[in-house]
Amino acid sequence: MSILYRYITGGILVAILLASPGSVAAQSSDQAQLALLRQLVALLQTQLAELLAQSATPQRTQTQYEPYNTSVPERTINLGKYSNTARSVSQIPDERAKFFFERVRELTPSKYLPLIEQFEVRDFRGSPDAQVFGHYRSDNGFVWHFYIDREYLANGFSQAGMDELIVHEVAHIIGDTDGTPFEVRSRCHDYLANNIGCPRLDSLYMKFVAEFWSEKQLDEMQRRNSITEQNYARNPGSFVSRYASRNPKEDFAESFAQFVLDDRNSHRGVAGEKVDFFDRYSMSRSLKEEILTDL
Ligand SMILES: [Zn+2]
Repeated sequence: MSILYRYITGGILVAILLASPGSVAAQSSDQAQLALLRQLVALLQTQLAELLAQSATPQRTQTQYEPYNTSVPERTINLGKYSNTARSVSQIPDERAKFFFERVRELTPSKYLPLIEQFEVRDFRGSPDAQVFGHYRSDNGFVWHFYIDREYLANGFSQAGMDELIVHEVAHIIGDTDGTPFEVRSRCHDYLANNIGCPRLDSLYMKFVAEFWSEKQLDEMQRRNSITEQNYARNPGSFVSRYASRNPKEDFAESFAQFVLDDRNSHRGVAGEKVDFFDRYSMSRSLKEEILTDL
């Protein structure tokens, strides 16, 4: 806006200069100077028109393209990137990585599979085993990267353990995608907002948080980022696993994985209610059905 202002001011100054009696005198004595001033006016008019055209076009804001998930493994090493197509995955040279990503393709519900742009093997140096990372693409679509740790693949894994890991990560994809497009920041607790805004309040994830995470717990998360140990100890029976007590997102993912894969009877109390939560919504019921057909 300040540039635009400068151009307008410049244009007005030149116009005054041309219209002033002094400039009339200059006109007769120096035609070349007048021609130069006219050129300058023409140039300013062109630039002004361009600026006005630009300001009339809705501009994409910078933040929209920034990864909203700050935990993207920036400092870890990428050991192989593969696009999410049957052909690309079938050509992965590492047998275990190929096996793993083929399974991801099988277990990811059809609505979400096309949103995974890329698979990657990374060296996470032990933790985590897997991670998903969502971000806005330049065309405004919300897409995902799916990472697996080199060591996890190298150590070997059971089919059941692998399926659980995949369903957990897929739960993050479902929860976060369902929360887009983001709402204005002021509509949720600061802890739940990211650099774009709040997940949609009517998303499955936000309903889950509203039901199971108190204002006090969110305040504490905001201050300390992880309250796993205290949270797990203070709330016996409230989480389906210790990892779930880490934060609301992990609670959502772990509870969803239990809803899909586990017998409901293994969880009582609040942990059981969290599993039942997903049974109340047709969206999660049909996702479960679809995942189970591939297990
Ligand atoms: Zn997770």
